[in-house]
Amino acid sequence: MIPRKFEYFAPTTVSEAVSLLRKYRDNAKILSGGMSLIPMMKLRVLSPQVIIDINNIKGLAYIKDGGKAVRIGALVRHADIEHSPIIREKFPMMADAAPHIADMQVRNLGTFLGALAHADPAADWPASALALDAELVAQGTAKRVIKATKFFKGPFETALKPTEMLVEAILPVPRGEKVGQAYLKFERKAGDYAIVGVASLLTLNRENVIQKAAIALTAVNPFPFRATDAEELLVGQKPSKDLIEQAAKAAAAMADPSSDLRGSAEYKREMAKVFTRRSLNRALERAGVAV
Ligand SMILES: Cc1cc2nc3c(=O)[nH]c(=O)nc-3n(C[C@H](O)[C@H](O)[C@H](O)COP(=O)(O)OP(=O)(O)OC[C@H]3O[C@@H](n4cnc5c(N)ncnc54)[C@H](O)[C@@H]3O)c2cc1C
Repeated sequence: MIPRKFEYFAPTTVSEAVSLLRKYRDNAKILSGGMSLIPMMKLRVLSPQVIIDINNIKGLAYIKDGGKAVRIGALVRHADIEHSPIIREKFPMMADAAPHIADMQVRNLGTFLGALAHADPAADWPASALALDAELVAQGTAKRVIKATKFFKGPFETALKPTEMLVEAILPVPRGEKVGQAYLKFERKAGDYAIVGVASLLTLNRENVIQKAAIALTAVNPFPFRATDAEELLVGQKPSKDLIEQAAKAAAAMADPSSDLRGSAEYKREMAKVFTRRSLNRALERAGVAV
């Protein structure tokens, strides 16, 4: 199918894009990578009357290392993240995730912020954004910062208003004596959406006591979530096989997957446990802590 007729705008500044959003509100959609929007328009799941293509806005394709935090602009593609030395050094969980998103063609166009705004319940990036406590900068009439933990509201539903555009993500660089992070994706075949994806971040002190645990799961709930029950079990403890197993069980207990072509709900919940355990173990390994 071909999309229904729409009006096309290609603003060259953020303020122009936001004015258009304010003018057309629910009838308009931002186009960044187009890797989710265009297929949905072709299937006529979505038929916006107005497309606001932000690709001609200069200065939005940056990954900036500010020391305590890294800022990612709205036109940073999945492939930019995949090949970024800053990301590899500061956020290994994102370096893990990037090569498993779709295929090279999609990664060359799809954007990090577009994927967050799209909020597909099985998307990979939301897990990293949640586990890293990212802050998302929305530009409307004014700028506002939305914590990733408050951003995802439901399947394809976010805290973003129809008159706002996501312009930047701010990712705090995790600090601690020992820091380990990982993202593990379980997929049926290369390039597929996740059956489950688990992002883990652990910081430990010199005595190997866990100071901070952040675990985020995707594809096993109507929207990506932080496994807070599992995090609470870990903080203040020294890691052991038994503790990791308990945390993995607690994370899986918070999952509420649905049965579909990627597996039964029961199977997905079991995989949520297995992949949480593996993700935590990899994070510990990277923190230099043996269990
Ligand atoms: C074959 C295929 C396989 C895929 N596999 C995976 C996968 O394995 N894992 C995965 O995570 N994803 C996968 N995707 C989705 C891909 O990652 C998309 O790139 C991503 O979901 C959307 O990013 P985009 O920049 O392409 O956004 P677009 O398609 O341009 O937009 C998506 C939605 O977000 C809105 N939007 C976009 N940018 C902004 C912004 N800056 N501010 C506000 N709203 C905005 C749009 O209006 C639209 O509603 C796949 C896609 C395809 C086509």
